[in-house]
Amino acid sequence: MSPVKKDATCYTCGKKVEFTRCSSRKDPPEDVPCRVLSGWLTVHRWAGVRSIDQYDFCSFTCLQRWVEAQAPKIPSTFLKAFPDE
Ligand SMILES: [Zn+2]
Repeated sequence: MSPVKKDATCYTCGKKVEFTRCSSRKDPPEDVPCRVLSGWLTVHRWAGVRSIDQYDFCSFTCLQRWVEAQAPKIPSTFLKAFPDE
């Protein structure tokens, strides 16, 4: 069986890397995911039965940009409703 080439694309900036899946029976290839994807972050979002969304990010900066786009901002008027103690 030939090694399976896989790739990951940063969801935010579109940076793409290719890697080869490790096999327990063979020596690890040059482009093992743990080397190629070093520093990357992968988020799994549980979307329902047998449905998991996976998002890859090349850096914390790209992850943060995505999170900020997903998470609704807390309105400053809401924060002002809590007076300082
Ligand atoms: Zn990126």
